[in-house]
Amino acid sequence: MTDQTRSYRVFQRKQLDRIPQVRALPAETRDTLSAVAAVLPFRVNNYVIDELIDWSRVPDDPIYQLTFPQEGMLSAADFERMVGLVRRGASDEEVVASARSIQLGMNPHPAGQLSLNVPRLDGSELRGLQHKYRETVLFFPAQGQTCHAYCTYCFRWAQFVGIDELKFVDREADRLIRYLKLHPEVSDVLFTGGDPMVMSTKVLRRYVEPLLAAGIDSLKSIRFGTKAPAYWPYRFTDGEDADDLMRLFEQIGDAGLHVAIMAHFSHPRELETDVARAAVRRIVRTGATVRCQAPLIRHVNDNAPVWARMWQRQVELGAVPYYMFVERDTGARDYFAVPLARAYEIFSGAYRSVSGLARTVRGPSMSATPGKVLVDGVTTLQGQRLFALKFLQGRDAGWTNRLFYARYDESAVWLDDLEPAFGEDEFFFARFMDELTRRRAGHAAGGGGDLRTRVAAQA
Ligand SMILES: *Cc1c(COP(=O)(O)O)cnc(C)c1O
Ligand code: SF4
Repeated sequence: MTDQTRSYRVFQRKQLDRIPQVRALPAETRDTLSAVAAVLPFRVNNYVIDELIDWSRVPDDPIYQLTFPQEGMLSAADFERMVGLVRRGASDEEVVASARSIQLGMNPHPAGQLSLNVPRLDGSELRGLQHKYRETVLFFPAQGQTCHAYCTYCFRWAQFVGIDELKFVDREADRLIRYLKLHPEVSDVLFTGGDPMVMSTKVLRRYVEPLLAAGIDSLKSIRFGTKAPAYWPYRFTDGEDADDLMRLFEQIGDAGLHVAIMAHFSHPRELETDVARAAVRRIVRTGATVRCQAPLIRHVNDNAPVWARMWQRQVELGAVPYYMFVERDTGARDYFAVPLARAYEIFSGAYRSVSGLARTVRGPSMSATPGKVLVDGVTTLQGQRLFALKFLQGRDAGWTNRLFYARYDESAVWLDDLEPAFGEDEFFFARFMDELTRRRAGHAAGGGGDLRTRVAAQA
């Protein structure tokens, strides 16, 4: 811990010119940043700028690609439209209107998040919860719906660009507690966002303490999904609020529950500053585990040595490599996508070069509408080249650990691109999914022609 708390300074689109390193970039690059940042969420802070990005390597620097918007993240036509507006100094209204129409075309809620995962209590939808897999409920606290910086590839981006109708949050733990009491099959609550670690510890306690006090026997673990150890590690090391956060983790443990920090690390650089290392070590000392996950992203981490080094760093600090995800079908997907075949090669290359302590990681995994689907192998059976796929989590819990096969396709980037192997017409889960979508579309139809319903119908 330092004597004085480190001050957090945040920069969004309007403050681009206040970043000295950005002012030093060519005018054309600055126009590009301003144009794309009007469409995709943009937020960085002084730590990311000063400690993580190597400005001598911009634009190829992986952390710059992770946090600063790039031309290729929009279609050529959309980019021309936006950069045209910026260059002629168009009004804010014009910029926002154009940006909004582009955003709505970018699949704001992938994988049936809205239509399929929102649970019900007393006949009404619980907007602050998602319940997709039997054991784990996701909880979205209202004050945790932003992050210390934004990832350009974020699949939650719709929440950050103010498509307000699409937000799902809750302001208190009451409904969560009632839901857990009615659903003893749920053992894990995952606080997510945005990033719940943007909340002060005091606010976090308002959610966690009632949950502990409720004495729900079936609840075993509290997870926090966060990128704060990467984007603002001082959250865990610096000042009274950080000390109190460590006490809170210990308190949860003392109440007999497991604390899991689901840490999002995209690149080993994020684990190589002194403060980031101190943050992870300090969390681990509270008895919490730090499990690490990230998507595989072109321009950021699309090679095996980067993953191997990242997993190695995690193990050194007592953290646990957990998931490598495939980038979801949303936002600037074309810019980031890595084909499944290549993802499998990168994963395998990295997996082979670390010790068993890092091989707790699973991937590459797609968080698709039917479940988390692992690309488990590329193989040849009966003369046919195949992907061996496996459910790590299924919308039907009975699918977990079930293998199935798809025809090999070098350019496929997502489950939807794949065809079943051995001449079958459809995957075994297809009928179940059709039925589910039909039933939920029936519910949504009552809501009228608003944006939410339209998006839900597309999911
Ligand atoms: C990944 C995920 C979880 C947690 O899955 P684990 O495999 O238990 O980590 C829960 N809910 C949703 C919607 C998820 O995508
Ligand atoms: S930290 Fe997570 S929620 Fe926040 S921008 Fe990055 S991916 Fe999205």
